[in-house]
Amino acid sequence: MTDEFLPVQFRWTALAASWVVAIYGIYLLVQVIRRIRVSERDVGSGWWLGGALCIGTGIWAQTFLGLAAVHWPIKVGYVPEVVLASWLPAVVISAAVIWMFCQPGLKWLQRVTGGGVFGLGLGLLVVVDVAAMVLRPHVAWDTARVITGLSLILAGCAAGSILIRRELLRNEVSEVRTLLLAVSVGTLLRLGQSALVAAVTLAPGTVCLSVDQLSGDALGWILSATVLMLFVLVHMGTLLDARSRSRQEQLVQSLKKAQTDLVAASFRDAHTGLLNRLGFEEQLKRVLNQTAPAPERATVLRISLDGFRAFVDTYGHTLGDNSIRHLSARLLGLVRDHDVLARSDNDEFLLLCVGLGDPHVASQLAQRLSEALREPCMIDEVDISLTCSIGIAQYPESTNAAQLLAHSMDAMQTARNAGGAVYCFFERGMDRRGAEQVDMQRDLRHAIERGELMLHFQPKLRPSGELAGVEALLRWTHPQRGSVSPAAFIPVAERFGLIGELGLWVLEEACRHVRGWMDAGQDIPVAVNISAHQLRQPDLPQRVRDALVRNNVPPRMLILEITESTAMDDIDASIRVFDMLADIGVQLSIDDFGTGYSSLSYLRRLPAKQLKIDRAFVRDLDSSPDAQAIVEAVVRLSHALGLKVVAEGVETQPQADILIRFACDELQGFLYAKPMPDSALQGWLAQRASLPTVAANAEDISSPSVVA
Ligand code: C2E
Ligand code: MG
Ligand code: MG
Repeated sequence: MTDEFLPVQFRWTALAASWVVAIYGIYLLVQVIRRIRVSERDVGSGWWLGGALCIGTGIWAQTFLGLAAVHWPIKVGYVPEVVLASWLPAVVISAAVIWMFCQPGLKWLQRVTGGGVFGLGLGLLVVVDVAAMVLRPHVAWDTARVITGLSLILAGCAAGSILIRRELLRNEVSEVRTLLLAVSVGTLLRLGQSALVAAVTLAPGTVCLSVDQLSGDALGWILSATVLMLFVLVHMGTLLDARSRSRQEQLVQSLKKAQTDLVAASFRDAHTGLLNRLGFEEQLKRVLNQTAPAPERATVLRISLDGFRAFVDTYGHTLGDNSIRHLSARLLGLVRDHDVLARSDNDEFLLLCVGLGDPHVASQLAQRLSEALREPCMIDEVDISLTCSIGIAQYPESTNAAQLLAHSMDAMQTARNAGGAVYCFFERGMDRRGAEQVDMQRDLRHAIERGELMLHFQPKLRPSGELAGVEALLRWTHPQRGSVSPAAFIPVAERFGLIGELGLWVLEEACRHVRGWMDAGQDIPVAVNISAHQLRQPDLPQRVRDALVRNNVPPRMLILEITESTAMDDIDASIRVFDMLADIGVQLSIDDFGTGYSSLSYLRRLPAKQLKIDRAFVRDLDSSPDAQAIVEAVVRLSHALGLKVVAEGVETQPQADILIRFACDELQGFLYAKPMPDSALQGWLAQRASLPTVAANAEDISSPSVVA
């Protein structure tokens, strides 16, 4: 056997070249798979195709290089057609391997099968390449070496299957590790193929019929050059792609960060750094929706600063912002770490306390918050002390985030309506009122066309008994509810945007009546109430002018009453509209004076002619020296400022006597007459025509027969 065996010898330089190509090929294989895994589908397909062509060519070339590295005992040559034909299976094998590694969840069995097929394919390539030399007699194979070669190739495939997979799953890419992997897998495969080549045995006297064709050296050179060029091209491609992708990645990351920052900012209040309303709602929902452990109790406190708008109008926005910052820091000092504090509006904070269920404890907290805010302090050299109205709603009584927010608002409004500087828990019924309001606005929409509205008039008298004018007060006779108070439906009309239409109707009706009275020889000025919403309508002066012109009423016959709190709400806007209305020639009156948070000197900025002291002060006149002192001071100061004073809600003779003593200019109240329809007013006027003074001729308020 041994004498028939012609041992092959290797040329070490060519062998080294094939080894380098094998390592480089495996290295590129990993890079190409990486590119495919991070690329979009169409780009990935390009890499797959290009990668398969290049790596396949590499496998093909290094197999031939391995063959060309053999120093054959006889002169040999290769058939070019066979050489070329063996290129295709090499490319197919490569395409399959790349595809395999790009699959997301590959099972062990599939990987073993894939590795096995690749290994056998590499082995087969050696056989085909040997067949490219036409040797006679045919070569024989040394079984032991074949087994060794195949084992080494399969070991290389197994190592490759494990190592490449593991390498690809890593987050961070290490070139050194990839290179080591390529060296180990490439070496195993190369050794295996070399062992297979070494398994070729030639019988003595073997001749090569294709000796004149492609020589081993020429083949070696051609292949080395081609493959090197291809590899360098692909390598550069992978580098460029990786770089542009990492730049893209950086861009995406910075975009993501900008987006996260933006979202975070949209949940924050810029002035205080606290959460804003949106942020609070998010947190509230998160707390209530969390499953384990869901909060058993949670309390939402809505803390609204009383009169903050007027405060800002007086002292300016800078001081307003500084004060809010200072107050938010005070509130933060009182809440626990896991409580959520937010600034939900200009003058409003929201506080969420989880686990705080006992109403008694919640009241204590509200009390503490109130006191903390009220504590006087010096900001920008201004002495500040603010009160607040707090509305409290609790979970699970309020069943979800939306209810907690709405109920805390209802409760806060109730606290505010009670005069402010108090806290109030939400109670059932506060929201029922909300539902009732919805029903009411539906009916109110049709009230004008159905003729359910009418004006009543309440006289205003001078101390001499003379009629100074009347106040027009709206009345709604609802088919089911009966007579509905304007105190109930005017806020509904405001809330649901109906007040504009309603206000215009009142204005028109009032002017129509004045015209009628004037035609009958009576000059009775009429006072019409203007709501906050109307005041904000830019065309109000024009509407007033139109109503006057249409009914041919001189402007001096019309007085517009605006409540103090409405006028103070946005003092600059009020001044603008008041000026325009004054230009028309109508008179302006500040209604319900004493219920807002303004001072008389502040009111000087408005071109009003009249001030109506709220009936709450008048009510206490005969029993409270304090009320007397306040009313007397208000009358005196008003006169000093050139304002006439009207007292509303005069119900008793002692009240009237005191007011007359204080030199109040006009009196209005049930003592003289309740608001009444035009027809009743005419009767009342006729009845009073002969009577000399107000003080002597007041009716008994317990029998307001004048209305009937
Ligand atoms: P107001 O403008 O302060 O009107 C005076 C209110 O006090 C009227 O209530 C009147 O009936 C009532 N009043 C008058 N004298 C006495 C008295 O001696 N004792 C008591 N306890 N009350 C007296 P009314 O008519 O229920 O109107 C309530 C409020 O509704 C008005 O307060 C006004 O703010 C608003 N309002 C009425 N009509 C209109 C309207 O046409 N437009 C607008 N925007 N608001 C209106
Ligand atoms: Mg009024
Ligand atoms: Mg009033």
